[in-house]
Amino acid sequence: MEQVKVTLKGDVREFAAGMSVADIAKEIGAGLYKAACAGKIDGKMVDLRTPVTADCTLEILTFQDPDGKHAYWHTAAHVMAQAVKRLYPNAKLAIGPAIDNGFYYDIDLERPLTPDDLPKIEAEIKKIIKENLPLERFELPSDQAKTNMQEDGQDYKVELIEEHSGKGEAISFYRQGEFTDLCAGPHLMSTGCLKAVKITNATAAYWRGDANKKQLQRLYGIAFPKASELEEYLQKVEEAKKRDHNLLGRQLGYFTTVDYIGQGLPVLMPNGARVVQTLSRFVEDEEEKRGYLLTKTPFMAKSDLYKISGHWDHYRESMFVLGDPESDKEVFALRPMTCPFQFQVYLNKKRSYRDLPMRLNETSTLFRNEASGEMHGLIRVRQFTISEGHIACLPEQLEQEFIGCVELTNYLLDTVGLKEDITYRFSKWDENNKEKYIGSPEEWETVQDRMREILNDMKIEYTEADGEAAFYGPKLDIQMKNVHGKEDTLVTVQIDFQLAERFGMTYVDADGQTKYPYVIHRTSLGCYERTLALLIEKYAGALPMWLMPEQVRILPLSDRLIPDAKGIEAKLQQAGLRVTTDTRSEKIGYKIREAQLEKIPYMLVVGDKELEQGTVAVRSRKDGDLGTMPLDEFLSKALHQVATKSKE
Ligand SMILES: [Zn+2]
Ligand SMILES: [Zn+2]
Repeated sequence: MEQVKVTLKGDVREFAAGMSVADIAKEIGAGLYKAACAGKIDGKMVDLRTPVTADCTLEILTFQDPDGKHAYWHTAAHVMAQAVKRLYPNAKLAIGPAIDNGFYYDIDLERPLTPDDLPKIEAEIKKIIKENLPLERFELPSDQAKTNMQEDGQDYKVELIEEHSGKGEAISFYRQGEFTDLCAGPHLMSTGCLKAVKITNATAAYWRGDANKKQLQRLYGIAFPKASELEEYLQKVEEAKKRDHNLLGRQLGYFTTVDYIGQGLPVLMPNGARVVQTLSRFVEDEEEKRGYLLTKTPFMAKSDLYKISGHWDHYRESMFVLGDPESDKEVFALRPMTCPFQFQVYLNKKRSYRDLPMRLNETSTLFRNEASGEMHGLIRVRQFTISEGHIACLPEQLEQEFIGCVELTNYLLDTVGLKEDITYRFSKWDENNKEKYIGSPEEWETVQDRMREILNDMKIEYTEADGEAAFYGPKLDIQMKNVHGKEDTLVTVQIDFQLAERFGMTYVDADGQTKYPYVIHRTSLGCYERTLALLIEKYAGALPMWLMPEQVRILPLSDRLIPDAKGIEAKLQQAGLRVTTDTRSEKIGYKIREAQLEKIPYMLVVGDKELEQGTVAVRSRKDGDLGTMPLDEFLSKALHQVATKSKE
């Protein structure tokens, strides 16, 4: 019999040609066969049923691999749809993909599901798992596929097949028992391979996400190979909910949103505004120490500016344009980036090599017209304020300046406590989509190689991502996940080899020649709204004391003592602490509980005895009762904690 050479984890083994991925897994071991979710042949995802017909590299993916997890969850989505069909035979199925954390299925039902329905569906899912129905893959010509689905009344599937039919390819299906679904796979071998499945949410969703189309029921679910893993996951979700800045940030008075202001335009309340002010002062001071020059530039400009920078051609759909470019003589746009404005500072004078590097920074408010569906609390917004900066430098200064930017960022993130949670991503252009970028392929390759060299010299661990570069150059993105596991970019450092030329930014070099500098675009602490959100989630609202909008709360034991409490408040305030006094006629226990819920670092209880002795009874949010101490002693301890930017 013909044999094929299969490379598995570096070892080459021979198998009979035509064996399926599942058969090969079985031959390697029963454990692997049981855990297998999908395969990868020469890096391409395949089904466990796919025959191996030629020499190749094979990976057998389990639930531990992201793609294996996807196949596992996708199979769970089919089982959930099967359960719904058994209980509600008239249900029409739309789409049911695996997502980053589980799966969903959009289903057209005669009536909306209620919370009472979900346990019934879950019970049916359990039954289907127990029945251990094998999943079979088969293909039909698109005409036949369409007829079958029409007969079954599956209108949405018919629509999906019609979209595919132009390609002339056969349509693939998966069948398990009485249930058949249009599907590209891959899938587990049988429904019995699933273990712990849970429906986590039921919401409404429009077919194709289009509000003009029919509203469907979306069922979200999650599944794990072990019940204990499901338990752990559900607990984590509960914990995440408690930390979600979109909830906690509102409860603690950091921000609010108002319908008639608009989506993605949060209002920072006094607490949130105070934290952002503290952060931006810290960043501006640190940047000043590192040789940056501060600028303040306009929030908008005529389209002429963006035409030079390339934003008009490459970024306009993300910009707020004021006026109609077709009919108005002059059109303005709100700035999506600070660069073209800050460049004017450079252009204001003739520059020599002696002026370089020139480091400019600005606490800059920017506007980006993102789709309203993507808005999320303080993380996805349309107006935000960011520590933006641009460095013009000589080619031989590029590496040092780049490193300086990363070091500054690392220092800032470390100080606020986020450094341990970040990852680095080298974001490159997309070779197959050249029109999105300015500059030639050779220039892109050269500058990307240069950047890779710098990153390797810095010995930082990074992943590479195609198609994530800015339109004018590659970037290092510092990424962080929010409490739900969704990743966003916090900080970027970009190398630009295009815009200096476009703007005619030149310098006279030592040899008398006129040249273009390199430009580094960088942020140092990211956008303050997003950083605030991540801080709230990381610390569950109990930010380090130096960042807290309220650091000390004074709790007089009776109304009679309010004037004395106010005296203490004034003294601490004068010394630089952020203090309030709770003057309500509530019981002291109640006041303490409330201050604790608001995560106030210190509560000072003031009674007759303390006033007589010049002491205060101190409670901390972390350690509870700390006993009494002289007011001055508390003050100097508290000031030290703030001045050293302690993480407590
Ligand atoms: Zn499917
Ligand atoms: Zn820039």
